[in-house]
Amino acid sequence: MTEKCGVVGIAFEDRNAARPLYYGLYALQHRGQESAGIVTHDGFQQHSHVEMGLVGDVFDEDDLESLNGSTGIGHVRYPTAGSVDSCCAQPFSVSFKSGSLGLSHNGNLVNAEEIRDELAGLGHAFTSDGDTEVIAHDLARNLLNEDLIRAVKRTMKRIHGSYSLTIMHDETVMGVRDPQGNRPLCIGELDNGYIIASESAAIDTLDGELVRDVRPGELVVLSEDGSGFDSYQLVEGESTAHCFFEHVYFARPDSRIDGKLVYEARRNLGRKLWEENGVETDVVMPVPDSGRAFASGYADAADETTATGEPRAEDDTGVEFAEGLMKNRYVGRTFIMPTQDERERAVRLKLNPITSTVEGKTVTLIDDSIVRGTTSTQLVSLLKDCGAAEVHLRIGAPPIVAPCYMGIDMATREELIASDKTIPEIEDVIGADSLAYLSPESVAEALGALRSDLCMGCVTGEYPYDIEGEPTDREVTRPAIGGQTIQADD
Ligand code: AMP
Repeated sequence: MTEKCGVVGIAFEDRNAARPLYYGLYALQHRGQESAGIVTHDGFQQHSHVEMGLVGDVFDEDDLESLNGSTGIGHVRYPTAGSVDSCCAQPFSVSFKSGSLGLSHNGNLVNAEEIRDELAGLGHAFTSDGDTEVIAHDLARNLLNEDLIRAVKRTMKRIHGSYSLTIMHDETVMGVRDPQGNRPLCIGELDNGYIIASESAAIDTLDGELVRDVRPGELVVLSEDGSGFDSYQLVEGESTAHCFFEHVYFARPDSRIDGKLVYEARRNLGRKLWEENGVETDVVMPVPDSGRAFASGYADAADETTATGEPRAEDDTGVEFAEGLMKNRYVGRTFIMPTQDERERAVRLKLNPITSTVEGKTVTLIDDSIVRGTTSTQLVSLLKDCGAAEVHLRIGAPPIVAPCYMGIDMATREELIASDKTIPEIEDVIGADSLAYLSPESVAEALGALRSDLCMGCVTGEYPYDIEGEPTDREVTRPAIGGQTIQADD
């Protein structure tokens, strides 16, 4: 089951964790809007409040009051295709012989079924069909026989795929990132406490300091008194498989992921787009909000050089950057609309052109990605209806040709416009005067990463994990991950 989510965990010295967790979840709301939850521990018992809905609707004053304890974890969950299911809302919590466990998961395991069958055979009763419960049961089982660090290590060796987890064992809060570091996870210092969160924006919201990213394969254990954390490099991956799409679309632009500010990464991708596929038009405009940073980088680069790479002459005013499309902030993401007809209506509800910035002009429209093609098709025809002379579309990522098995809801292969069409064919369907994307290599370069350190399954159709029926890209030379190693015994 695909889980594109946000996770958080906090340990304080002497204050309740519930409210900071709530603010942290607010900062991560873009990572999931289906359900929200917090589990805390007061030293004696767990307190839990998990419901379907947005963070602001799920918790009221009384709920936050009742979530006692100075340590806790939280979760926001993304609506996955077809399943609006309260049994999959998180954090998942369970009590067993050696204590209580709470678990928040972002990512997707590729061998959950196998482990579930095995554990079910051993008498474990499952209440959901999600991966998270599989991890919780496996960990609970290991904890019956060994200490926390060994138990987590054993579970990490067993589960394959993508996972950034915040875990609570009694009052101990931990963070774990899969050995390939597919989903983001970082550590921050707070006033009298520490936090682990999917994105650094959650740390900023609490006036905290980003300490660093959790390393791939690392377990971070927050001290119960909020005074620090211990690090255990439990599994050494062969290479990383950071999701490039976090930088392109999913993460907040003000977050810092794996050492890079997402906003800058997007501006660099925009610059690259100009350098490789620039077209001289009267105006450059973003699809708000997803294309904004890309368009700003693109327009900046276009001010410096012409589309053929020559420095601009002094009397050449370059291109104009304009906000030609206004967004209605009260409309949800188009992906929440279940039918194509509703999705098309939603685009029009969401974005309205400012005619004077468009009329009679040649326009370059910039967005981060094309999935089904609904947004771009609608916007090109909208701009043309408003009198645009030409509409050129520039996209800051490669064509999305295959599904994501690692945690991002990307539609099925059949629904993806680029899965069976060439770029000229897509250009035709969308009705743009020209269309250009970035190549996977250019994306890696703009992100300052090695191509082999990124998961690009959705744009290459080859995955850094073993997925039934799909080819792998692991034959690509993947250098070993560096960094210090603190081994827990086997
Ligand atoms: P589409 O209209 O189907 O081509 O989707 C493209 C638009 O959706 C772009 O404006 C993207 O910013 C946005 N988008 C890209 N990926 C996703 C995703 N996984 N979930 C929701 N929206 C997305």
